[in-house]
Amino acid sequence: FGDRHELDEVTGNMQRSTAPVDAVPLVPGLTVKGEALTVCAPHDPSLKVGTVVFAQPSDVDAAMEAALKGFRTWSRTSAEARAVILERAADKLEAERDRLLALLAREAGKTIEDGISEVREATDFLRYYANRSREMFGAPTAMPGPTGEDNRLGWRGRGVFACIAPWNFPLAIFLGQVTAALAAGNAVIAKPAEQTPLIAYEAIRILHDAGVPGDALIFLPGEGDVGAALTKHPKLGGVAFTGSTQTAQAINRTLAAKDGPIVPLIAETGGLNAMIVDGTALPEQVADDVVMSAFRSAGQRCSALRLLFVQEDVADRMLEMIEGAARELVLGDPMLASTDIGPVIDNEQKAMLTEHVETMRKTQKVRFQGEVPAEGTFFAPTIVDLSSAEALDREIFGPVLHVVRWKARDLDTVLDKIEATGFGLTLGVHTRIEDLVRKVVDRLDTGNVYVNRNIIGAVVGTQPFGGSGLSGTGFKAGGPNYLTRFALEQVVSINTAASG
Ligand code: NAD
Repeated sequence: FGDRHELDEVTGNMQRSTAPVDAVPLVPGLTVKGEALTVCAPHDPSLKVGTVVFAQPSDVDAAMEAALKGFRTWSRTSAEARAVILERAADKLEAERDRLLALLAREAGKTIEDGISEVREATDFLRYYANRSREMFGAPTAMPGPTGEDNRLGWRGRGVFACIAPWNFPLAIFLGQVTAALAAGNAVIAKPAEQTPLIAYEAIRILHDAGVPGDALIFLPGEGDVGAALTKHPKLGGVAFTGSTQTAQAINRTLAAKDGPIVPLIAETGGLNAMIVDGTALPEQVADDVVMSAFRSAGQRCSALRLLFVQEDVADRMLEMIEGAARELVLGDPMLASTDIGPVIDNEQKAMLTEHVETMRKTQKVRFQGEVPAEGTFFAPTIVDLSSAEALDREIFGPVLHVVRWKARDLDTVLDKIEATGFGLTLGVHTRIEDLVRKVVDRLDTGNVYVNRNIIGAVVGTQPFGGSGLSGTGFKAGGPNYLTRFALEQVVSINTAASG
């Protein structure tokens, strides 16, 4: 991957070329026309990663008609046969790992370490959902009932699912959503984030190569307007969305305003994630976990730490250690083993972060900001001392840590403030007092609580992941019940006496 080239107009990490492209095939018999867009590497915009032609909202009807046909065959394929295909895709993904790591680094700015964990997570999703679907969607379950009656509970796909994904886990989250929908017997129209269409294309190609029929899984790369057109479609069976809270709210409104079938929304959205550190916490452990949670992956994880509540009497010492550890982080080419942090995804994200820190500077204290390489969309780890938690009222998606001090015996106020954010994705607690942990867990409905460790990284099948409130519908990806959200239950009751 990667040719160097001259730049003319660059928007985000996309460069628009003047040459129109005709008839790019989506599925057999269905093509899109449009402009060829060049994807540039965020760490070095002169590096051309590949080209893509985006679908337009007007392509959604044809994609839906094809997918409805695909649904008829895929939904009748046995759960076992579907699971075998998904497991084959997991093997293929592993076999292509190095190629995918290069693409994750070039297109999404992922360090090799992050890329390795992303490919592993994608493989885990495929195997876990394949296994769960075998257990859940095989033969219908016999239900207890009166003599002379046979009652069975079975599962079936809902129809065509729109899977709409973000750029920050362009392989694992995208593939996780698509796999869950397919495992439950749905056809899928997959709309990746506009910033990362190439890695998404590879994921879809691997699923097709493994045996998912072309019309049961349709790749529809495009901008947000393509996602919006999909969610408006009257024949849609459901939406699996991961991305910002604002977009999820827009989709929710679209679905609510539609006539016709009532379809589910599975939404995994943003977080204003906090960590509470008290005076009994181990300073070295706190420093490691804070730096990892706030700055790893350039802070571009939904689970990343945004708001650190540190007890006043230990705050200076802890913050000195955190700052010292942040100073050591190396920003640079994500392909190099020496790099700790790659770029942020594009110029828009960099501009948003720059503006946020400059705005903060006017009323709060920016206590630390690291160095950045001259070229590329890098943003340095930054630590801001806040006068109060209310100074941060939204998710800032990047490597900016905000710190608030709290007084011993004032834990309730800290919990009030966390609750008042309205988000509930991840939460960290660093303490050696068990009662404090119990109090936090009893009080807050945050989806994933981490004690005396970092708050990023959820292991498929071990730490089902998803948040409440502004952070999403709370259905846990990578958990035992996730697939139920993608499927319809059907009960068949037979009067056996009358049925011969
Ligand atoms: P985004 O909401 O801007 O975009 C997500 C997807 O939605 C993209 O594919 C986009 O094209 C599409 N889209 C945009 N407008 C749309 C509309 N009106 N209708 C339908 N689709 C539309 O999010 P992003 O910037 O790509 O991703 C970052 C966000 O994702 C952060 O808020 C992060 O916290 C969140 N996220 C959450 C999780 C989680 O599991 N909770 C995981 C990863 C990322």
